[in-house]
Amino acid sequence: MTAPAHLIKGWCPGALRPMRSGDGLIVRIKPRAGAFSISALAAIADAAARFGSGEIDLTNRGNLQLRGVSDDSYDDAITALRAADLIDRSAAVETVRNVVVDPLSGIDPEHQNVRDVAARFEDVLADDARLWVLPGKFGFSFSGSSEPVVAGRPADIMIAVTAEGFDICLDGAADLRCAVAEGDVIDAVRRLALVFLDLAAKDPALRRMKDAVARSGAGRIFELAGLQASSRSEEAAIGSESAGMLSRADCVFGVGIGLPFGRITADQLGRLCQSAEAAKLKDVFTSPQRILVFPVAERPSAELILEAADDIGLIVVPEDARLQMDVCPGSPGCGNATTDTRGDARRLVGALNGSLSGYSVHISGCEKGCARQSAADFTLIARAGRYDLIRNGVPGDPAALANVEADDIGNAVSRFILDSAS
Ligand code: SF4
Repeated sequence: MTAPAHLIKGWCPGALRPMRSGDGLIVRIKPRAGAFSISALAAIADAAARFGSGEIDLTNRGNLQLRGVSDDSYDDAITALRAADLIDRSAAVETVRNVVVDPLSGIDPEHQNVRDVAARFEDVLADDARLWVLPGKFGFSFSGSSEPVVAGRPADIMIAVTAEGFDICLDGAADLRCAVAEGDVIDAVRRLALVFLDLAAKDPALRRMKDAVARSGAGRIFELAGLQASSRSEEAAIGSESAGMLSRADCVFGVGIGLPFGRITADQLGRLCQSAEAAKLKDVFTSPQRILVFPVAERPSAELILEAADDIGLIVVPEDARLQMDVCPGSPGCGNATTDTRGDARRLVGALNGSLSGYSVHISGCEKGCARQSAADFTLIARAGRYDLIRNGVPGDPAALANVEADDIGNAVSRFILDSAS
């Protein structure tokens, strides 16, 4: 069966190639090496208020997107964003620049700085036209620790720091790695991406690295890139970003501000920028976990930012169940949606009153499942105004419960939570 056109996966909006949605154009802005300057963040807030609906999403790749931009205001929005140095030089460069950077890189004493190497790789993506034909969702991540998966979201090619240099891992092959020296890492990643393109040229069904790994084997892909793979052993995780004060051994290095269901208004973002400016901060790092990480080393400044964020309704404690929830824009923002996913998510959190803590939840307005790639404890997929509930799976997996009324999802989820506790 051919998928309906609106459900075809693989196309991602940008700023120069916006996507039309139920509430107007989506204009997506990608940070450079995972960071925005505070002044650029303020420019995004301003552009969202003046040219869009005033709503801004933080995506599961750490990008910010303006919603509800009209055809008439689009050109002015791009002019304003370009003035803040937020626009790539072409749509091709923007499309291929899918790079996620560990938001704790360089600020957490346990996470080394990989921002420079990520920035140099972004230059390669911008300059090597052979890479511009990579599929729109094909992405790279740079981790400042030995854990290659950043923020729990695997990328097609993952680069992680080691004591000797870097490990390169491929999505779909968690047990293999290729160890390279720092001076060789960028070229090695480029060669792997080119090998993927060669394989995809022979088999156009290959859209992601994990498909190529399943088809050819990760060892063979490394070999074709002139690289030697070896087995990789799991190492103990050293912790990742969350909401609230970020510290180690009582030493504060930042604050994490969670955006409820990945959304913030222009007014909230503007006010957050004012707090950051008052604390003399220069940058913010974006996390695919829908958290903005502000690097701040003084506890009083950190406390002021957290207080300001709390006052405007953002997430400031790691226990907040909304941090574990991936919720797509739903209706009316997206024309494909048949439910008000965000309203339903809010009601779910209210109904379960804390017992959702520790469970991952994905609520999707249709079977496309834009908000999350990986499995969640509870996945709710809207169909014709009701939900199918999938346990420990992804959209497309068999439903544990079908046709649940939106008003009833709290009861359905709580029944499974009670069952698993008994
Ligand atoms: S998953 Fe959500 S945002 Fe994506 S197409 Fe479906 S309804 Fe729209």
